[in-house]
Amino acid sequence: MTKLKNISKISKWFDGLKDPLLIAGPCSAESEAQMMQTAKEIATLGKVNVFRSGIWKPRTRPGNFEGVGEEGLQWLQQVKKETGLLTAIEVANAEHVDLAVKYDIDILWIGARTTSNPFSIQELADHLKGYDKPILVKNPINPDVNLWVGALERFHKAGINKLAAVHRGFYPFEATALRNIPKWEVAIELKSMCHDLPIICDPSHISGATEFIPEISQKALDLNMDGLMIETHYNPSVALSDMNQQLTPAQLGDLLGNLIYRRTTTKDADFASMLETLRSQIDSIDQQMLELLAQRMNVVEEIGKYKSKNEVTILQIRRWEKIIATRLKLGKSMGLSEDFIKKLLQLVHKESIQRQTEVMSKLGFSSKKRNN
Ligand code: PEP
Ligand code: MN
Repeated sequence: MTKLKNISKISKWFDGLKDPLLIAGPCSAESEAQMMQTAKEIATLGKVNVFRSGIWKPRTRPGNFEGVGEEGLQWLQQVKKETGLLTAIEVANAEHVDLAVKYDIDILWIGARTTSNPFSIQELADHLKGYDKPILVKNPINPDVNLWVGALERFHKAGINKLAAVHRGFYPFEATALRNIPKWEVAIELKSMCHDLPIICDPSHISGATEFIPEISQKALDLNMDGLMIETHYNPSVALSDMNQQLTPAQLGDLLGNLIYRRTTTKDADFASMLETLRSQIDSIDQQMLELLAQRMNVVEEIGKYKSKNEVTILQIRRWEKIIATRLKLGKSMGLSEDFIKKLLQLVHKESIQRQTEVMSKLGFSSKKRNN
């Protein structure tokens, strides 16, 4: 358990805030017209509470669109005045906080890159002391639940109790259809470390493409998450950042209309949601397990090519014996049975040999020819 006590409920942040919290708006503020049109169309849906927009954009490489800066804050004030939506922006340093306060921005979020750096987080926490702004903390780029909790704790220690986490997925090291791997189990672990902490899902940055957003959003609701942050642009095809993952306001309306909000007030529903939570952990772990196995087979094939070129036999008995011995020791220390580890390794080994045989029978002939 963490020291995150007395966390305020989202519905207490502002009058009229509903649960789940729905945040929508463009990845970046681009122009006054883009902001006003997007905001008005979102407001018409009657479902969204908060309008988001990036003002300073943390881009992976310099030279891409880096945000409009202070001017965008004036447009946000206009949005608030004309639509009544609350406003939210990303802040990454003390100057951003000062400007957010100057322009009366309602909610501040901390981006994934910033959460990854405790120096920046401490600077922000020191600077935010005394302000009563709700702070949303996105998960760090790497799946380190302690780094995430640590950032939340730094804000909490600065006296901020209007806090929520935002789950936006983690940088994928293996090729995957999604832009960021959800690793739901990390968000679940955060929830089990701090029961009262609201967690909002950002399906846009997990998905990277609009087609996956409905499925990811539903999963987040099934896991009892407390809200969604969805990138929305009046015309994504002209967006200056993240164009592939932004929905139009009409698409957002369809999505919100199709999502199933399950109630969790009865005992049965609590049980169902617990079961769903555990099953999601299993689903996520299985997916990663399969991705790792596929990755292993790719390496096996590489070795096959290498062996073929150097005319080495497939089965190297010493290496195999070493694999068995080291994996048995490791697996046993993790609480797995000897019998299970052996069977699993044999299965994997059999498939590996098969793969190498295929590679070598394809390459064997041509590599010999090359050698001659
Ligand atoms: C964003 O919300 O536009 C953003 C930059 O997100 P993240 O920090 O999750 O990459
Ligand atoms: Mn974005």
